[in-house]
Order: sequence, then C-alpha cells, then structure tokens
Amino acid sequence: MIRGECNCTAVAFEISAELPGVIICHCSICRRATGSNGIAVIVIDKETFRWTRGEDHITSWEKPGADWQTWFCRTCGSPLPGKNDASRMFVPAGLILHGAENLKVVQHIWVDSKAAWDEIGDSGEQHPGAFPA
Ligand SMILES: [Zn+2]
Ligand SMILES: [Zn+2]
Repeated sequence: MIRGECNCTAVAFEISAELPGVIICHCSICRRATGSNGIAVIVIDKETFRWTRGEDHITSWEKPGADWQTWFCRTCGSPLPGKNDASRMFVPAGLILHGAENLKVVQHIWVDSKAAWDEIGDSGEQHPGAFPA
C-alpha cells in the first residue's frame, strides 16, 4: 500500500496500485501555486485512491478563466490530491513518503514557459506545452 499525508498530518490517503511515473508541470500557474519550479504529480485511476483521514480539512481554489484547480490542506497549506478528469486523480508526488522508492520523472509539460532558473536534469520526455493530443 502506498501512503501519503500533508505536513500537519490532518489529511492522509492511500493508493492501492503500482505508481506510474512522475509528471512535472512547469506552467506559471503551478509555479505560483507551489512557489517552486512547478508541480510534480502522479496521475492514477481514482478507483485505486482512498482518503484515510481528514477529508474535512480539504479546501480548493479554481483559477477564474483557466481550466485549473488546486486542492490543499486548510491547516498547513500542503497541496493535496485532486480530480484530474472523470476517472483519474492527480497526486502531488512529494506527499508520498512510503512506497515511492522507485518513482522516476517520465514527462515534463509546459517546458516552453518554465522559469529561467529552472534547469531540467533528468531523462523525462519534454513537451513544450500540454501533452500532445
Ligand atoms: Zn495539513
Ligand atoms: Zn501547470
């Protein structure tokens, strides 16, 4: 079982499937949301995901005019898993401290808008914008 939690530990979850690779989004919205070079996420089938604690601590924000939403802990502000599409969730990779030993970055998206100081040093595939259709 793969487990993750937020910084204050109020919110916790588990994933019952093998994790696919990590996707890093370098877009300006994700950069502001994290204060970093983007966000590293894992996209999983929502059937394999379960909250184990603190669902009432989750709050979310949707950026007006953009197809973008973030979920986070209302106590500590850690980004939290959220809805990717009808059948999938995305999980911020940094929340997973147990079961992530073999994870690797496989994709970078919105590389054309990455920060000037952001140097990509892994072997993940790089896409200038969103995933190619
Ligand atoms: Zn928290
Ligand atoms: Zn992004």
